[in-house]
Amino acid sequence: MPPLLLPLAPEQTYARDLDGLYAPWQGAALSAPQVLRLNRPLAAELGLDADAVAALDSAAGALLLTGAMAPEQGTPLAMAYAGHQFGGFSPLLGDGRAMLLGEVVDTAGRRRDVHLKGSGRTPFSRGGDGKAALGPVLREYLMGEAMHALGIPTTRALAAVTTGESVQRDEPEVGAVLARVAASHLRVGTLQLFASRGQTEDVRRVADFAIARHDPDLLDLPAETGERYVALLTRVRDRQAALVASWMAVGFVHGVLNTDNVTLSGETIDYGPCAFVDAYDPAAVFSSIDTGGRYAFGQQPGITQWNLARLAESMLPLLVPAAQREDQDAQVAAAVGVLDGFPAVYAREWTARMRAKLGLSPELDEDERDQALATELHELMQAQGLDLTRTNRSLSAVVRGDSELLRAECTDLAAVDTWLDAYATRSARETRPPEERAAAMDAVNPVYVPRNRLVDEAIIEARGGDMQAFDRLLDVLEDPFTERPGLEAYAQPAPDSFGPFVTYCGT
Ligand code: AMP
Ligand code: MG
Repeated sequence: MPPLLLPLAPEQTYARDLDGLYAPWQGAALSAPQVLRLNRPLAAELGLDADAVAALDSAAGALLLTGAMAPEQGTPLAMAYAGHQFGGFSPLLGDGRAMLLGEVVDTAGRRRDVHLKGSGRTPFSRGGDGKAALGPVLREYLMGEAMHALGIPTTRALAAVTTGESVQRDEPEVGAVLARVAASHLRVGTLQLFASRGQTEDVRRVADFAIARHDPDLLDLPAETGERYVALLTRVRDRQAALVASWMAVGFVHGVLNTDNVTLSGETIDYGPCAFVDAYDPAAVFSSIDTGGRYAFGQQPGITQWNLARLAESMLPLLVPAAQREDQDAQVAAAVGVLDGFPAVYAREWTARMRAKLGLSPELDEDERDQALATELHELMQAQGLDLTRTNRSLSAVVRGDSELLRAECTDLAAVDTWLDAYATRSARETRPPEERAAAMDAVNPVYVPRNRLVDEAIIEARGGDMQAFDRLLDVLEDPFTERPGLEAYAQPAPDSFGPFVTYCGT
């Protein structure tokens, strides 16, 4: 028997348990799609051996990975969800250009979704064409793999497949499909759909599904008292707080933090108009559609808390004992009890990351003192237009006794020297040998991040049929912490001549 192209799990849980939240679906027919890139390490994680990978990397594999051919088993479907987009509520969004091919249980026993983006129109497409262009597909591929290598929870690209069709955007573009893998595609918006219709028992069904998938230990908590759902909300809060703290630490701007793009799993999802900052700037906005700066770099922790409030709102009747189901004050008190904890959890997560970046042992100083040192460093970066990634990386040199790398970037030497003095005073209390401390810092301060100019170059060349720049960049980003000779250009911010960078949703 030939190997299955994709070993889907015998039980497809989303299809089995969440009726009302999907339409069974197959992608649009295609005559000759081609697998452009296949993520072999990820395929191996999913349990595909060399033969299975070879089978997937074929004409039949391309048909499967675009949704044009149904999988041998399973129930492919388009998911329904709702969501707040730029603050306004849409009661029905859903996979307008995507579908869930199926769930796979990976080699570590984790159930993961394989989802296709660009697979054609669905019942949720509204005015859209259901397609994706090669540029955004490759952008999502690069960004997701870069985030993964940086240790940040994320969906990942399994494959980029060209459809052989052209897709009309501002101009005709090469059509493509991204096959991506996620811990799940449950979003804040998934719960919002039933909640906005007042279907409390259906909201409970989704919440229990999410718990079974991501937090099975919580199934031991009673549902009737509300404890189980308060605990779920708390888990999602904590995962999102940790996620946004890691974005802030590396300078990632998601760009479109609508509630349909916020996962319950805590993975980064839906890389659209996202970008990394070069210079540290809380006001940085790259998305052409975010004209009000709602999703600016520095807004992300606050908007995440806002999105969590929308999640809490959609779960309100579940958060209290059955006897209080009609008691709005009790519901709100339960929600607020969780939401009010967000700033403290975020501060804890952020401080932990900043300490690691600065090489500060947590037990040696008060949180506020170390937070102040990190904040002052950011103020310095902002005031002098310093590059976030390079500045952080230069700190290990400071610890090794060389401050010149950092000072050379600065225009106001007095300001940087004041900060360096404070850093030296704090560093003097560290007991680790400097080299050990510096090496630990180099393991968390990347040299290479997916800078806009590099991602753009890779995409422009790929559109012209040349994948070399993409492959090279992917290779660099897969090992972001090891400085390698010859790769200096990958560690540089864009020259001023690159101009202000703008990303487009690319839909
Ligand atoms: P996103 O910006 O990817 O989070 O998408 C927001 C919503 O718009 C989702 O419901 C998408 O499925 C839908 N959408 C985006 N682009 C298209 C398209 N080309 N065709 C149909 N629906 C789309
Ligand atoms: Mg989305």
